[in-house]
Amino acid sequence: MVTQSKPCRIGVMGGTFDPIHYGHLVTAEVVRGEFDIDLVLFVPSGVPPHKDPRQVSSKEHRYLMTVFATLTNPFFEVSRVDIDREGETYTIDTLRDLRKLYGDEAELFFITGADAIAEIMDWKNAAELVKLAEFVAATRPGYQFDRKLQEWFEQHGKKLHLLQVPAMAISSTDIRRRVQAQKSIRYFVPEAVEHYIRKNSLYLEHHTHSTADNNEISS
Ligand code: ATP
Ligand code: MG
Repeated sequence: MVTQSKPCRIGVMGGTFDPIHYGHLVTAEVVRGEFDIDLVLFVPSGVPPHKDPRQVSSKEHRYLMTVFATLTNPFFEVSRVDIDREGETYTIDTLRDLRKLYGDEAELFFITGADAIAEIMDWKNAAELVKLAEFVAATRPGYQFDRKLQEWFEQHGKKLHLLQVPAMAISSTDIRRRVQAQKSIRYFVPEAVEHYIRKNSLYLEHHTHSTADNNEISS
């Protein structure tokens, strides 16, 4: 396994992963290649602070789907640091825990989508956070970043790394809605994740807006 010789360059992909999808996986793989990363850790959140807990699947469901989705990539692993920590999940705690686990010599690359990074200035302990890792934001081709965000990184002596990634339009919200509306999610998520969703009847009761009169049958 990759972790036997201590990895030096570690990608960290945090998320709710409800469910994990090919947008997350493609992004992690592209960043891995571009930044010469030894290991990408997927870190499913415990309790996401900005989401209604009743509308988020259980930690163990999200953890297992992430494990199944990453199984075939030897450079991908799943970390339980956020799942096993009490209380709401904040990225500052994720990065502090990973730093403890992997040591000071490890370089951490926190991977986010453009939507998530746009709010980093408001994240808990933002000034410390930005020093703990390099930040890599995946954007859609043509996406225009707010200058203010880049300036904020520069004020902290850092650079925000931007990377264009295909498959950006996929979202977990859309997948949950599709399941509820009995639409196919084939090719949105790895097959094992789709089987897991069906087997555990996930997303059928979600409080998302379903298109009730759409009768497309799931694959
Ligand atoms: P939801 O719709 O429930 O918010 P999501 O698809 O945004 O789910 P999250 O688990 O919230 O997935 O996202 C985890 C991380 O992955 C965030 O940094 C987010 O910006 C990023 N991300 C989400 N979708 C994509 C995508 N299609 N391509 C690249 N990054 C993505
Ligand atoms: Mg999201």
